[in-house]
Amino acid sequence: MEGDAVHRTAARLDTLAGTTVVRADLRHPAVAGTDLRGARIVGTRAHGKHLLTRLDLDGRRLTLHSHLPMDGAWTLMRKHRDDGRPALPRHLLPKLRAAVTLDSGVSLVGLGIPVLGLLETRDEHRVVGHLGPDVLAGQPTATQEEFDTGEAVRRLRRDPSRPLVEALLDQRGVAGFGNLWAVELCFLRGRWPWTPVGDVELEPLLALGRRMITHSLEHGTGMTTTGNRRRGENHWVTGRSNRPCRRCGTLVRFRPAGTSPGAPLARPAAIHAREVWWCPSCQPEP
Ligand SMILES: [Zn+2]
Repeated sequence: MEGDAVHRTAARLDTLAGTTVVRADLRHPAVAGTDLRGARIVGTRAHGKHLLTRLDLDGRRLTLHSHLPMDGAWTLMRKHRDDGRPALPRHLLPKLRAAVTLDSGVSLVGLGIPVLGLLETRDEHRVVGHLGPDVLAGQPTATQEEFDTGEAVRRLRRDPSRPLVEALLDQRGVAGFGNLWAVELCFLRGRWPWTPVGDVELEPLLALGRRMITHSLEHGTGMTTTGNRRRGENHWVTGRSNRPCRRCGTLVRFRPAGTSPGAPLARPAAIHAREVWWCPSCQPEP
């Protein structure tokens, strides 16, 4: 999931601030059995792809921490069954990780969320402290007020030989870019995705990425990087393998996940090597 989608979720969850938990069913091993009844929701913030829902339980400040991958989601449900549980369609039950019912009659339902934890709010750094600056810092839903470009560049260049696309996906460098933004940014800056990150001028790339992802968040454009929402025309290169580049007509190339042409064979498959699309003319190999 991309940072703009996570911040959009944070904004939705933040509307629950001020409500009180009347029933909580947390199925994740790390939090199972925790009794959250009576907790007041303080608010929800995001850092990159991490969500922090803050609670006040009799003066104890707690944070429900979750991390959203591609298919995980928090949704709000207003329909409930006779026993008070949210009326979740049967086929979604195996994915249910959390159901928190509030005194407003709304339930917060977590589906397919692999990372869910409860910690003291003052210890939030333990779960987000390793992350780089949030590309959406400064947004009302962000924990960070300002994006520290210098810090992001320093972190991205820690391993200057690392391929650009991998560095952008590693949340310890900058937090919030997913595969779509990383691949599209390489195209828009005319860089071959496996260019060593140390050879790339990162300041303008980060400024462009922040401008685009902020626009997407503020205007709800979601998954378009071209400004065109029509399917097949909403991305520059992503999902367009063997189709003509929208800029120059050259056929777009595709590299499946887990491979990285720039890396020596002895190097283990990088964990951030995901599916990559690029135009060999607009993004020439150096
Ligand atoms: Zn091209």
